[in-house]
Amino acid sequence: MKFQTAVLHAGNKELEKYGATLPPVYQSGAFEQKSAEGLAKIFDNKAPGYCYTRVANPTTAAFEMRITKLEGGMASVACASGMAAITNAFLNILQSGDEIVTSASLYGGTIDLFRDLEAFGIQTNFVENNNWGAFEQAINEHTKLIFAETIGNPGLDVTDIERLAELAHAHGIPLIVDNTTATSYLIRPLDMGADIVVNSSSKYINGNGSAISGILTDSGRFKWTREKYPLLRDYLKYGPMAYISRMRATIFRNFGACLSPQNAFLNLIGLETLGLRMERQCKNALGLAAWIQEHYPEAAVNFPGLKSSPWHQIAEKQLKNGYGGIFTLRAGSRERAFSLINNLKLALKVSNIGDTKTLVIHPASTISLHSTQKQKEEAGVYDDLIRVSVGIEDLGDLIEDFRQAIEMMEKQ
Ligand SMILES: *Cc1c(COP(=O)(O)O)cnc(C)c1O
Repeated sequence: MKFQTAVLHAGNKELEKYGATLPPVYQSGAFEQKSAEGLAKIFDNKAPGYCYTRVANPTTAAFEMRITKLEGGMASVACASGMAAITNAFLNILQSGDEIVTSASLYGGTIDLFRDLEAFGIQTNFVENNNWGAFEQAINEHTKLIFAETIGNPGLDVTDIERLAELAHAHGIPLIVDNTTATSYLIRPLDMGADIVVNSSSKYINGNGSAISGILTDSGRFKWTREKYPLLRDYLKYGPMAYISRMRATIFRNFGACLSPQNAFLNLIGLETLGLRMERQCKNALGLAAWIQEHYPEAAVNFPGLKSSPWHQIAEKQLKNGYGGIFTLRAGSRERAFSLINNLKLALKVSNIGDTKTLVIHPASTISLHSTQKQKEEAGVYDDLIRVSVGIEDLGDLIEDFRQAIEMMEKQ
């Protein structure tokens, strides 16, 4: 199935009982089995089935199966948020004393998470994205995974996933990629060699900003060893399902950050138009970014779709169908950035991305507030930076909104 067909039809049809065209919302905390023996078997992973929604739920499973198909993976686990998905993806294989090597150009919440992990004895080494020498140098015998975002949020650098995966595999460690900003519409990181992909489905996948959620998808291809990944020891017998089996049987189940069936349902509805929305958002982002660059060259518009972006070539090589729906610009100072934002009439002042509506934010005072000065610089967060997540409005209206807001800012 090609993308636009898969968002509508991929996954398990059995769930759609009575001919419903959407999977029903199984709004039930627990599931009855016919016998005590039956329930015992499910708890012991000896039989398929549902027992408790914190562990698995049929509506959530329908969402997981569809994302697995879209990302080209083996299996997925849906979580309460994007941060929960990232946390589960890491803690499934890490123990005290282990280290992470990551691109420094990241979502602020993820940078904060790395600091929280220090309390559990897990250290993180940040390196400049696509700086191969620095990646190589940062890896040592304690390094257990490499992490990067496909398109850094809000740095908007494009990771060369093929090359980073090669580097990770040369050291016997997996590459985990956050694909939130690109989505499987633009790229399937697992096809380029990444081992695990995480998505904050609160963003483009849901698409309307109607629910918080996250999902991780395993390719099933990484060769885990008991020496390097002792936590997976008892699960290696499940072969390509080793990583996901351990997650569902242990930390996902016990940390308890499961996705509610209602939110899985909202995601399934949103997902149906992911391709259509992305097509339009990518087009609008390119149109608006190019217009601002042409009329206000001092705004230093950063967008992988523009030839002026240092990441344009990697984007050309890697991404299909567009360059994403997010760009940034620089207003000259924090005060001017606030003025520009306040003068916008259509664009909403919201910390989200990937909504049908155009959204703007000043990252330095919000999503990256808790980062250090150095972390902000490395993540491309300047004090005058504005991030724009472009929606599906008419491009002419968006251009007019930014034109009048920039004009008002200049007057103030
Ligand atoms: C929003 C976001 C997250 C976190 O997702 P939540 O659903 O808000 O927890 C992680 N990574 C990226 C790139 C994001 O944009």
